[in-house]
Amino acid sequence: MHEMALCESLIAIIEEQAASGGFRQVHSISLEVGALAGVETEALLFGFRAISQGTIAQDAELKILAATAQAHCLLCGFEETVSRPVSLCPACGGGLHMTGDRALRIKEMEVE
Ligand SMILES: [Zn+2]
Repeated sequence: MHEMALCESLIAIIEEQAASGGFRQVHSISLEVGALAGVETEALLFGFRAISQGTIAQDAELKILAATAQAHCLLCGFEETVSRPVSLCPACGGGLHMTGDRALRIKEMEVE
């Protein structure tokens, strides 16, 4: 599962920051997820719970902030802001061009 790998790298980043920042506990993490990252929020939360066990982040609350993307139809000019990938234009059925982010970014972290 894709989300498990993402959680593993998320924990690795947190532990790295803990080592350089000298904190011992993470209370909460706000994670911005790009609309085109193809990530299921539920799966991400579940994966985080499982993988954070025994790490510095095991009691941390993971807050997911969904970033939006822009969908643009090249045929009819339809435009919409979406939070997940859409492939077909709801107006004309043409292919949509998506502009957005695939990245996961830690926006905020409450630590001790
Ligand atoms: Zn269209």
